[in-house]
Amino acid sequence: MNRAATLEWTQVDLARRSEVTAQRVTAILVALLGIGGFALTVRMIFDWWEVVLVLLGCLIIVALGVGLWLNADVNAVAAAKLKEGGTTVSLPVVAAHETTDESIRYQLQLRMPSEEFVTHACGHPACVAAARTAPDSAVPVLLNESTKTWGVIHGSPQL
Ligand SMILES: [Zn+2]
Repeated sequence: MNRAATLEWTQVDLARRSEVTAQRVTAILVALLGIGGFALTVRMIFDWWEVVLVLLGCLIIVALGVGLWLNADVNAVAAAKLKEGGTTVSLPVVAAHETTDESIRYQLQLRMPSEEFVTHACGHPACVAAARTAPDSAVPVLLNESTKTWGVIHGSPQL
């Protein structure tokens, strides 16, 4: 087997149902903002090219909303599959470094049972704590060897 044929590990965001719902609500609000923005501004402009420009801008906003919704769906399906066939393991954090991104905070290098390494970028308090005490820390991970998917368990271990 050459290296190119080996399947790479795919990280799945094990978002809780409430987080998926929140993402969907955001998606709807963004799409409504695009539609509403067009409806409001189209009354104030008279040239056709202004209408086209505003329409294009609003369509992009609507597309962003649709993209958010689809992303929530794809992620929810992947998370459900992982929860079905995955096993909970504790992966050692071999290294961690702080990022300048407020929402990500840390990049954690985790060692898989197969001795491969994966990176988890996160700002969750549990992961930040694990990053600060690396390399003497570990994070709980749901792992599926056959589909090569994994996801860090944030918060309660009951999924
Ligand atoms: Zn995390």
